[in-house]
Amino acid sequence: MNILNEAALLAARKGRGAVTGHDTLEACDKVRYGKERKSLEMGEKDKFHTAYHESGHAIVGLVVDHADPVEKVTIIPRGMSLGATYFVPETNRLSYWRKELIDRLAVLMGGRVAEDIFVGDISSGAQMDISQATELARSMVCQWGMTESLGPVAYDERTDSTGYGAGQNSKNYSDETAKNIDKEVRNLLDQANKEAVKIITENKDKMVLMSEMLLEFEVLDKEDVVAIMDGSWDPEYKRKKLKDLTEAHRTMPP
Ligand code: ZN
Repeated sequence: MNILNEAALLAARKGRGAVTGHDTLEACDKVRYGKERKSLEMGEKDKFHTAYHESGHAIVGLVVDHADPVEKVTIIPRGMSLGATYFVPETNRLSYWRKELIDRLAVLMGGRVAEDIFVGDISSGAQMDISQATELARSMVCQWGMTESLGPVAYDERTDSTGYGAGQNSKNYSDETAKNIDKEVRNLLDQANKEAVKIITENKDKMVLMSEMLLEFEVLDKEDVVAIMDGSWDPEYKRKKLKDLTEAHRTMPP
């Protein structure tokens, strides 16, 4: 209801008498990820590093074996973020395997690595990725027993017997173990970073192409990123497609 309501508002704003698929997709993004901030003047420098940052996530995600498919890459600021890469699983997922999580860590590192290699500096925008990756690695080590050295033991028991919301972490292990946990978390993150560096270095030409296309089109969908990766990309086709779409929305009442 919320999505369709938003879609109707978008259609009305564009002077349409009915809701198109395009309005509905835009409404989905708005409800899920926050409002597009076109008014926010993103400087050329921010645009440039965001394009490389997001291409980094996308390309690592497209190269690793166990990532969910890339749905969309965008450098239009929305909500709190300057850009985004959306991965949408093919089916509803209730759990993830260790291999998939390891790949996900590499994908999270991809943005930061790309900035480092292509922009020569790292923005604070990578902070969310790092905290997300660290949290994920910590869960793999402490809750899901996914490392050899620490074994299948739950180290962080989240206790919330009070019923007042946020539980406290009770530490039920030695300082020695604490050190090992830090080491394993660090290890997972270092490995992920290395993997991201390898993939991005090996795909430099595709990184440049995807970033340039993001700077031109601002949004690339699934079909576009796949074409960029397999070498069949034709920017003319995309330009024409967008033009036809705009034209269709203007002239054909749905
Ligand atoms: Zn990122």
